[in-house]
Amino acid sequence: MSLHIPRIRGIDFAAAGKQLGYLEIEHSDNENDAAVIPSPIAVLSGGDGPTVLLIAGTHGDEYEGQILLQELIRSLHPDDVTGRLIILPALNIAAVREGRRVSSVDKVNLNRALPGRADGGPAEQIASLIAGELIPMVDFVMDIHSGGIASEYVPSAFVYQGPTPELWAEKTAAVAAFNPPYSVVVKPMLKAGSISGAADQAGVPMISTELGGRGTVSLPILNRARTGLRSLLGHWGVLKDASSAGGSSDAEAPIRWVELTAQSPVHSTMAGLFEPVVDLGQKVRAGDLVARVHSVEELDRPSQDFFAPIDGVVAIVRHPALVNVGTTVVNIAVDHGTTYPEGNHEPS
Ligand SMILES: [Zn+2]
Repeated sequence: MSLHIPRIRGIDFAAAGKQLGYLEIEHSDNENDAAVIPSPIAVLSGGDGPTVLLIAGTHGDEYEGQILLQELIRSLHPDDVTGRLIILPALNIAAVREGRRVSSVDKVNLNRALPGRADGGPAEQIASLIAGELIPMVDFVMDIHSGGIASEYVPSAFVYQGPTPELWAEKTAAVAAFNPPYSVVVKPMLKAGSISGAADQAGVPMISTELGGRGTVSLPILNRARTGLRSLLGHWGVLKDASSAGGSSDAEAPIRWVELTAQSPVHSTMAGLFEPVVDLGQKVRAGDLVARVHSVEELDRPSQDFFAPIDGVVAIVRHPALVNVGTTVVNIAVDHGTTYPEGNHEPS
């Protein structure tokens, strides 16, 4: 028996062992009348067990996940796996090659493009393979993001509320196994077209992450996520021996649960230089000064102050100092402490 998916080259999903292949993304432009942009995929199968889909490079300028998944592909032997690991370490390969959130090829945010179109542009083709082919064949999904060039997050798991008590319980258990410093919760479908939304719709437990940002790699965050990823794969039952990874160490603080809401973002109302007045993870009260923007040329114009819209924790800070009218400079997340409130996970 074999199981091939059109447009996924070099992979038989029914075969045992380690296979390396690629998503065949068709692209036609001024330089190429019929080129292929190959997005790499690895499949490791080691007998009966769950199927886990691991993704990085959904945005091209987010790096911890790309490194960790390349490392997993090279270091794991099929005998280490019970079930099947499907790993896509550079999903939006055109954006990854350019080191940008979206590629100049189509300028489409892949994480808003699901379910995509098989006959669409590159990001839409990838989206259709993820939503239409891969998510339906897996038991668990993790999509590893960081803040990217534009921002930095508290190092966190990133999870959609609900959508059912059963899925929510699976998600919180996965967060506990991954054991990040923070867990950021958002309302389901707040961001339509995301991989998280597609997994929710398919009833597949999924967590995402936001590991730092600024278009670079944080060593402490990378190390913590490496341990967490092994622990999570052990929790999901796809790694034979995840014991060496360990769970949380006694020295680590418990996971802090915070929530992004429609009130969280602070937008600049002025173009100029953004000065952060608060740091990531800092607790603030509604009305506290959190940012200033300074005019570049108008020396007689006073700087503009921006204030926390709600009580909470500074969860995201803008990275490049130059901002425009409408740029989000900080996000303040509701602080739930070390446990997410029971019953708060239903869509409202
Ligand atoms: Zn991202």
